[in-house]
Amino acid sequence: MSDFNHNDHFQDLFESSQDMICFLKIDGKIDLVNPTWLNTLGYKSEEVIGKSIFEFIHPDYKNKYLQHRTDIIETNKIKSIEIGYLTKQNELVIVEGKTGCRYEMGVPQYTHCVFKNTTNKQRSEKTVRESEKRLKAFLRQGPDAVIIINEYQDILEWNPKAEAIFGFSQKEVTGKTLTETIIPLQHREAHLNGMQHFLKTSNGPILNKTVEITALHKSGKEFDINLSISNVKIDDGWLFIAFLSDISERKKTEEALIRKEAELLQSKILEEEKDQFISIASHELKTPITTIKAYTQLTLMMCGDNHVSLRKNLLKIDQFSNKLNLLLNELLDVSKINLGQLNLSKTEISFNIFLPDIINSIQQITKHRIILDENVSVQIQADPLRLEQVITNMVSNAAKYSPGKNHIIVRSFIHENEIVVSCTDFGIGIASVHSEQIFNRFYRVDNSTTKFSGFGIGLYVSKEIIKQHGGKMWVESSEGEGSIFYFSLPL
Ligand code: ADP
Repeated sequence: MSDFNHNDHFQDLFESSQDMICFLKIDGKIDLVNPTWLNTLGYKSEEVIGKSIFEFIHPDYKNKYLQHRTDIIETNKIKSIEIGYLTKQNELVIVEGKTGCRYEMGVPQYTHCVFKNTTNKQRSEKTVRESEKRLKAFLRQGPDAVIIINEYQDILEWNPKAEAIFGFSQKEVTGKTLTETIIPLQHREAHLNGMQHFLKTSNGPILNKTVEITALHKSGKEFDINLSISNVKIDDGWLFIAFLSDISERKKTEEALIRKEAELLQSKILEEEKDQFISIASHELKTPITTIKAYTQLTLMMCGDNHVSLRKNLLKIDQFSNKLNLLLNELLDVSKINLGQLNLSKTEISFNIFLPDIINSIQQITKHRIILDENVSVQIQADPLRLEQVITNMVSNAAKYSPGKNHIIVRSFIHENEIVVSCTDFGIGIASVHSEQIFNRFYRVDNSTTKFSGFGIGLYVSKEIIKQHGGKMWVESSEGEGSIFYFSLPL
């Protein structure tokens, strides 16, 4: 620079300065730049000297710089500015510093600039700003309530989820502590002690863990939450960041499930006790009934043909002890099924003889006319006594549940390699909601319990017997019109 009178000191300072220094002629042409200026922008001295400074200013900053330059030349004041340079590789370099104008005898001679490269500082500030933005977005939209408190318990952060869960707005909790807001009365002392303990020992048993605790809603209602707290050391104090979620619904479901399980267990125990009682009672009753029956038979024999009315009464006793015996046998069958001891003793059965025989013997004790409408002539392997038990149950139910009707139709036929036996009545029928359940033990349709006697085990035992023969049992029915009970056995 021809007209600049610089001494050695200035020269050293200029060369070694970490700042970017440049001198510009009054028309904006570069007169002198220091090595830091050149290195920062990636140029050699000969590439820049004599060129307009505007060639090196980023387009976004050109206007700003022009105005600033005009201003310092006109006012003759040193002023601060932040501008952007362009490097040789076309990258933006943000600089911040002071510029001024040198006057000689009232005439502006040149301008000078001393800048610091603040690109990295700005970048890291930008990064911090962006992470703050992300953190804020996370706090606003995250799935959990987030509460931040300091070691004095002051609430510093209270996101919208926390507002939703606890009912307190951010404004309402500002300047308050957790103990004044969401910690239930009974836990407040423990919370304060825990905090004191942590501040003394740096030991917090619930820190960095997820725990389930009770919290207080603004309305005063307590509810269950999931809580995890992390602690962060900031400068010389502590921050505690709590993530919380409302688990009261989940808790309710869990509790309902536990209650249901307990109920199920209880009813299972009751069922077992009931089974046990039935088994013991039916065994105990069996002996006296057999004895009554034996003495009745004996007295009948002793009476001979005399004592007509005595004989009639004895026959009644015999008939009712038979009925009682049948019921006890059914109860014993239930116990056998429970124990898996309902054993079959199969033989070959000719159906064309077997079915009419059973119908005839049931007809002796039934007022309804039993019509064997169709019968097949096949041989099957089955337990005749057990099969008779099933057919008797079907037909006697048909009679029992069709009071006032006069006939029942029984059929047997072949269908798809199975023998099917059906029993049709025209009685009270069964609503479809019960048609599966009536085969469960002790299940009786409501209207049967009041008007018809029974235990609700005949169909259960029958279905088990048919199942053991490899067959199926089902019903087709219309309430008020009658029912058709079926069973099928593989041939
Ligand atoms: P019980 O007749 O002793 O109650 P069952 O196990 O034989 O026991 O029958 C179970 C229930 O099925 C009966 O209580 C009754 O409600 C219903 N049921 C059975 N057979 C018939 C039928 N033919 N008509 C209408 N309801 C019937």
